Amino acid sequence: MKTRVVLEKLMKLPHRGAGTLFERKAAKLLVQEYKIIGLDAKLQNYSIAVHGSVVELFIPSMFFMCALLLNTMQEKQLAAIAFLAGLLTYLNYPYSFMNVYKWIFHGKSKNVIAKIDHESREGIKVVNPKTIVISGHYDTAPETKVLTILGQFYSYFARQDLKAGRENIELPPVPFFLKSPMFLNNLGVLLTLLVIILPSTTKNLTTYSLILFGFFCIVTLTVLEFLFVKYVPGAYDNGVGTSMVLDLAEHFNKKTNKLKHTNLIFLNTGSEEGPTRGMEHFMKQYKFDKENTYFLNLESIGAEIVMVCHGESSLPTGYPIEFDKKAFNFVMNLIHSKEEYKGVVKEGFLPACSDMLEVHKQKGKVITQITSIAPNGMPSQYHQMFDTIDLIKWDKVKEARALAIDIIEEFDKRFL
Ligand SMILES: [Zn+2]
Repeated sequence: MKTRVVLEKLMKLPHRGAGTLFERKAAKLLVQEYKIIGLDAKLQNYSIAVHGSVVELFIPSMFFMCALLLNTMQEKQLAAIAFLAGLLTYLNYPYSFMNVYKWIFHGKSKNVIAKIDHESREGIKVVNPKTIVISGHYDTAPETKVLTILGQFYSYFARQDLKAGRENIELPPVPFFLKSPMFLNNLGVLLTLLVIILPSTTKNLTTYSLILFGFFCIVTLTVLEFLFVKYVPGAYDNGVGTSMVLDLAEHFNKKTNKLKHTNLIFLNTGSEEGPTRGMEHFMKQYKFDKENTYFLNLESIGAEIVMVCHGESSLPTGYPIEFDKKAFNFVMNLIHSKEEYKGVVKEGFLPACSDMLEVHKQKGKVITQITSIAPNGMPSQYHQMFDTIDLIKWDKVKEARALAIDIIEEFDKRFL
């Protein structure tokens, strides 16, 4: 399988951290791989904030800390203003103020882009050809040790969502902010609001404010972590997805497999694992017909359960963003209509790939994300140093690959 060949080459690099030498090497390797299958891939260059994922919470946390200090000084109005400023920057995700950090922690990243146009048959002109962007980020995340603790928490919701998908039931009303990967922060923000609206005569108000101040201190102190940050090798997240984009490029570039009505763009994005994304640059700078273009994302494949995602919930608030309804229904009908997917492909809502959040923000249409999880939720190697090739389940990768090809071919034939 081409996916395996490319992945093995990628994994010879120690990591592919955004803005690092190894990310650039990976981009070069991907261009060479496209060349091998006969495609001329282009690089799209852009600047990013290196260590962005570590510093992203700095600005809102500073405002919250100001608000809490002002609150202990009984300056209620000023505290409310500082809190609002904190809230506005916090809810600004994906943070536009990251440009400030781009000056301080300046780094460069690249997207790798290749194209296959539909087979234009002599004399038959296809009106409004559709385009599918097959995407997968190739950069790797900073090691996130805290996930080993929080992982159980996510897993609970992943299990719930799976169950809901399988049994077609309504989920219990868990507040979105608790489903967010940033639920601790969200709790901090809520409690801050609470102590600020409490009257200044409240007993122990200063103590509550100082405890919360301490909490945000810890959050901002994580800024120091970037000095020691290690990037994970990233086989599961997202080496397999990256390599599968190339695998599909090879497949659809074969004369016999060419699509009739659909152009394909193969997009390996850099810098997904942080708030300054390659996808943002693709959406803003790459010229394509947004109206007739759909995104299919390959993310974190190689764990036990192959899934298609309904939507994305990586926002700090945990608020879910649904993918394109019409396109996702098409996928669901396809999956329900074939015996081979019964009990194999599951559906659900997950904190998915943040690239898709960016697509949505810029009014792009997402078909779905093909992904995988472990029976108990997020696999243990997620964002850890042992996210290596030996933990990849190749039979599951095969299933995901076949599903991707099926979705694309059916989309070409039937989706209007
Ligand atoms: Zn990822």
